[in-house]
Amino acid sequence: MVAPHLRVLVVGAGIAGLAVARTLRLAGFRPEIIERSARADGPEFGLYLPGNAERALREIGLDDPVRPFGQVIRYQRFLDAQGRELCEVDLDKLWSGVGECRALPRSDLHRVLLSGAGGEVRYDTEVRALDLHPDAVTVTFGDGSQAEYDLVVGADGRRSSVRALAALGGLARPAGHIVYHGVVRGGPPLADWTGLLGERAAFVAVPMGADRLHCYADEVGTATPTDPLARVRELFGGYGDPVPAILGALDRVWVTRTDEVELGAWSRGRVVLVGDAAHATAPTLAQGAAMACEDALVLARSLDRSATVREALESYEYRRRPRIKWVLDRTRDRNRTRDVPPPLRDPLLRIRGNRIFQEHYRLLVDPA
Ligand SMILES: Cc1cc2nc3c(=O)[nH]c(=O)nc-3n(C[C@H](O)[C@H](O)[C@H](O)COP(=O)(O)OP(=O)(O)OC[C@H]3O[C@@H](n4cnc5c(N)ncnc54)[C@H](O)[C@@H]3O)c2cc1C
Repeated sequence: MVAPHLRVLVVGAGIAGLAVARTLRLAGFRPEIIERSARADGPEFGLYLPGNAERALREIGLDDPVRPFGQVIRYQRFLDAQGRELCEVDLDKLWSGVGECRALPRSDLHRVLLSGAGGEVRYDTEVRALDLHPDAVTVTFGDGSQAEYDLVVGADGRRSSVRALAALGGLARPAGHIVYHGVVRGGPPLADWTGLLGERAAFVAVPMGADRLHCYADEVGTATPTDPLARVRELFGGYGDPVPAILGALDRVWVTRTDEVELGAWSRGRVVLVGDAAHATAPTLAQGAAMACEDALVLARSLDRSATVREALESYEYRRRPRIKWVLDRTRDRNRTRDVPPPLRDPLLRIRGNRIFQEHYRLLVDPA
């Protein structure tokens, strides 16, 4: 086992950073965590967690605290743009023996992870420079102060500075979609994940309990519009039920470009990347949180079971690569279905959609 008095810095207190801090604490380490933004909760965003996210949370002892939040989702219903049924995925069956699927506010998951990580985060703090030595890293923070660590974990998201400062990779690459998301209160009652597939665009609504819907829509493209709400109304105004009622209740949407990060290596010296910093994908399969928590589990296990830090970092990457590649490849497969004209695609999805969509998660049903 790598010595537990290793000085570890986790950069980024998002899902990956807090999950890593949690698993490292469980393994006996005492990591420091820094976060660039202020402590305040951001706007209300929703999150859909497939069954393997619950399994990963269970393995880090945080599934019980998450359970009171959001809503369990039992079916994914795929509809055409007019709102007619294409196919349905039985999620309890797909994730049987793995975990429940859940939609919840991102801030609730964040709070659970934060308390699981010990709650001590230095906010308003970022990394300005990294000096890599053979067995240590000198970190220069935004205020000019410096400290030395035995391991720096870059959990600073798809636009990671740690990735750039450690020369592990540059900018994230646009994945080809613009994503709109927001939370609706008082929209139509929905029991299931409900997605309407249009031409080069899709609209998804997922109930989060307490009369809230997590709405997520996307279109092919790379430039974000100046008025996202108007664009959503224009794009999806002609869609069938339940979209009109949701659009009627939607008063704010956030817009972002989807990104991919694909790297030749996830570590250099004593710097290692986790979560989106290492392997962001478009969120089509909603695997970001699950992959971040699985990374955290595998990294902590690797440190626990290896004789040296180098061996642990190699083992972490070796074990995570196949699943991450699967997610990236299946995300691209799923996104390509957007480019197929509905008159060709929809008849196929009516017959085989159930099998096609389940297949995207096949490898992920197995443990990390
Ligand atoms: C629109 C959208 C919808 C999504 N929906 C889902 C979903 O339903 N389900 C799902 O599982 N995934 C979803 N994802 C993906 C998911 O959000 C990400 O995969 C996940 O947040 C990755 O976590 P992370 O901790 O790696 O990165 P982030 O969540 O980006 O966290 C990184 C943290 O690092 C901080 N930071 C950044 N730079 C620095 C720095 N230099 N120094 C210090 N701190 C820094 C940031 O402030 C942030 O707190 C979605 C993504 C998008 C864009």
